[in-house]
Amino acid sequence: MTKKNLERLDHKHLWHPFTQMEEYEKEKPLIIEKGDGCYLVDIYGKRYFDGISSLWTIVHGHNQRNLNHALIHQSQKISHSTLLGLSHPSAIKLAEKLVQITPGRLTKVFYSDNGSTAVEIALKMAFQYWQQKRGSPGQTKRWRNKTKFIHFSGAYHGDTIGSVSVGGMDLFHKIYHPLLFRSKKIPYPHCYRCPYKKHPQTCHKECVSDMKQKIRQYANETAALIIEPLQGASGMRKSPRGYFKEVERACQKHRVLLIVDEVATGFGRTGKMFACEHERVQPDLLTLAKGLTGGYLPLAATLTTQEIYQAFKAPYHLSKTFFHGHTYTGNPLASGLALENIRLFQKNGVLKKLKEKIQHLRISLSLLESHPHVGDIRQCGFMVGIELVENKKTKKMFPLSQKVGARVCRRARYYGVILRPLGDVIVLMPPLSATKRQLTYLCRTVLKCLYDELGAWPKNA
Ligand SMILES: *Cc1c(COP(=O)(O)O)cnc(C)c1O
Repeated sequence: MTKKNLERLDHKHLWHPFTQMEEYEKEKPLIIEKGDGCYLVDIYGKRYFDGISSLWTIVHGHNQRNLNHALIHQSQKISHSTLLGLSHPSAIKLAEKLVQITPGRLTKVFYSDNGSTAVEIALKMAFQYWQQKRGSPGQTKRWRNKTKFIHFSGAYHGDTIGSVSVGGMDLFHKIYHPLLFRSKKIPYPHCYRCPYKKHPQTCHKECVSDMKQKIRQYANETAALIIEPLQGASGMRKSPRGYFKEVERACQKHRVLLIVDEVATGFGRTGKMFACEHERVQPDLLTLAKGLTGGYLPLAATLTTQEIYQAFKAPYHLSKTFFHGHTYTGNPLASGLALENIRLFQKNGVLKKLKEKIQHLRISLSLLESHPHVGDIRQCGFMVGIELVENKKTKKMFPLSQKVGARVCRRARYYGVILRPLGDVIVLMPPLSATKRQLTYLCRTVLKCLYDELGAWPKNA
């Protein structure tokens, strides 16, 4: 098919996710044909650095030799067989591996095929657990009231109705409000726009005590609290050090299950294999997806503890089974890839090398600090959010209609970098295999784009 035809047919038949098609149809589509390490190549042969790891998934690079081999190797055995009542070696080996590398008391792995479903599964497991948990009659009766969830403002857990119900991003989800189940919301600490900023010494304490008080208040009717170790989709927001641990403590104290959503942060993204490790948090349920197969195939996992698992075991006629499963749950090709993805972390010493690269990225990012429209730079490992503001002093945002974030990212294509913003937050999520030189180039490109679009060159650049 000719390039022109591809472009024409894209406009004619494709409906792109999270995309205003009215705008999209006015522009020539960018069609990616190949991947090579940290680069994407379009149908005209132009190379782009993949600044967002193809939506936060790529770990060891595109078209990676070992992953390619793992895929071929697995496909020569079997490409799909169900896990509903049957099993296969890759799913078994991967489950063992995941239990080994994830934090805490997680012993059981339930597969699905994307982050949203991994979250749905965690929510349903938590809900059903309290309905089926055994205890004295009085206790059991009280536990049955634990039917609700707690989530944080600005949270993103996916786009299916259940995960939207525990989401806190009004821009995406407001219209669906009548379809959602009710969930209790706790304000997520947002240090750049801190509501307690009048008390800079104690603001952390205010956030923590506010959160604790709410968990205590809602505990009797709450099955679980769901949290991202650091909020990705709402603009790379990290809670102050110690906050995450305090959430865990409050949940334990008030018998609220803790669901940690590491769909974005898992697999080295933040510098540790899992972000829970930064504060030694041990979830009751953990969701994984994006980086799980190194960006090759859709696969997700919900991990849980022996304690939760036990509540689902009973004679069949008592209907305590977890009635949930997707057709491609634990697909062999995807599981085989995930195994190789994890093996490569060790083989290539990825986390060790990453330390230095994270430091390098920090230094490269400091280039941007003095730009008059860079309000805040938030970095956690290889997850970066650069918040653009109209006024640096007052932190006033640009009007939505100016689409500043989108314009800056669009400009980056000209310099051969693919970016995708979250509102006016420029996201940098390079593959973990990116080199220091590439990281420098990435940051320099952002600076150039800021100059091109916002016309202000920082003094010391
Ligand atoms: C992307 C994401 C999801 C949703 O995953 P999908 O595979 O897109 O359904 C859920 N939680 C977090 C934290 C994410 O970043």
